[in-house]
Amino acid sequence: MSLDEMADWRKTHLTKEVTSKLIGQEVVLGGWIRNFRDLGGLKFINLQDSYGERQITMKKGVVSDELFNNTKLGYQYCIMVRGKVKKFGNAPGGIEIIPSEIKILNKTPDKLPIDMTGETTTDLDLRLNNRALDLRSVRNQAIFAIRGELIKAAREFLFDNEFKEIYTPKIIGSATEGGTELFPIMYFDREAFLTQSAQLYKEQLSGVFERVFEIGPSFRAEKSHTKRHLCEIVQLDIEIAFADMTDVLKTLEELIYFVIKNIRNNQLGSLKILEMEEKTLLPELPFPRYTYDQILDLIQKKCKIPIEWGEDISTEAYRELENILPGYYYITHWPMAIKPFYIMPSKNPKYSESFDLQKGMLELSSGGTRVHNKEHLISALELKGLNPIAFESHLNTFDFGMPPHAGLGLGIARWLTVLCGLNDIREAVMYPRTPERLTP
Ligand code: ATP
Ligand code: MN
Repeated sequence: MSLDEMADWRKTHLTKEVTSKLIGQEVVLGGWIRNFRDLGGLKFINLQDSYGERQITMKKGVVSDELFNNTKLGYQYCIMVRGKVKKFGNAPGGIEIIPSEIKILNKTPDKLPIDMTGETTTDLDLRLNNRALDLRSVRNQAIFAIRGELIKAAREFLFDNEFKEIYTPKIIGSATEGGTELFPIMYFDREAFLTQSAQLYKEQLSGVFERVFEIGPSFRAEKSHTKRHLCEIVQLDIEIAFADMTDVLKTLEELIYFVIKNIRNNQLGSLKILEMEEKTLLPELPFPRYTYDQILDLIQKKCKIPIEWGEDISTEAYRELENILPGYYYITHWPMAIKPFYIMPSKNPKYSESFDLQKGMLELSSGGTRVHNKEHLISALELKGLNPIAFESHLNTFDFGMPPHAGLGLGIARWLTVLCGLNDIREAVMYPRTPERLTP
């Protein structure tokens, strides 16, 4: 089969723009064949683009014989259509297009590796192997439309609140929080690492720009095999000068509220596709706040799971807790011993000015007040068994009037998992990296 040239054809509209306002007009659409049906004298094509879908209707005798007889159709063929807009109540958007010409720009094998009609579900690994195709599915289009809205709304919220967007290096010369979870790389003839967080740079820049944020990649070399861990993640990092943890708790819950409001306003259709319109609701502010000690108490009393004071909270305990605390909530004042060196100890130095944001059993964010005094920071490093010499250039920035500051890091994919009701974090990134998966 020979292919057509796009030549001077250009789309006049996106599918979603073809509404009843355009009835009677000629439009040019382009996209992929999601589905097609041949009923003898009648052929239907579901044309999808990245904005929605519209029905193309070919009726024998209505469209030209040449078009009716000679148009070869296949799943996910890339096509452009020129045709007239007609009202048709049962089709997407209440519209059908009566084509005068169809161009087949590219075709596909007879059998696709995954089902794209949405009629059956395909194993996630097989889908990920064919990710660029898989991402065209209705479900994936919805997930990533929500991600787009999340990022856009988060940026809008932050810019509106006088934050400045920063870009920090992803190739670093020394470990951020200890040397364990880093990917080493060669930097010419030296060893370097992929960054595990923007932590140190965003702290430095809070002493310059005061309110900073970054949405960027971090790399975690953990061989985790869970449904919530990836080796490459995108984090939303926020750092605020002249602030402490309480300011950050407030900023974060307001940001979450604003983002969900925008998703509900602008992506309700996507939430519906994912059957989340009754679940991803505006949360009540402020979020419930529990101290680490209170949570331990709750776990011991209500869940009957023993946790030693000073230990991290186990996945099993979080899972039980979800029955009691299904929404967004904060856990504050963690034991200092399990928090990184840059976190400020509380008045009682067994505890720290730190928090996690939970949504049910899933940790979405960690943050806290930072240490801004250089001497204090040096002893904190030593206490964690880290060598202050390795942090010299970072420590030097604390000589020049570093303000008190606090901040957080939030995993975008974790949050998207929650917002979309996904059961595996790999569904929330376009190309997941896990210990096993380095392609595509
Ligand atoms: P966890 O205990 O769940 O492994 P963490 O406490 O090690 O997470 P942080 O260093 O606090 O993670 O990172 C900040 C946020 O980044 C987390 O709250 C989470 O949302 C996200 N995050 C961290 N590690 C991963 C990962 N490996 N995969 C996906 N998201 C992650
Ligand atoms: Mn954490």
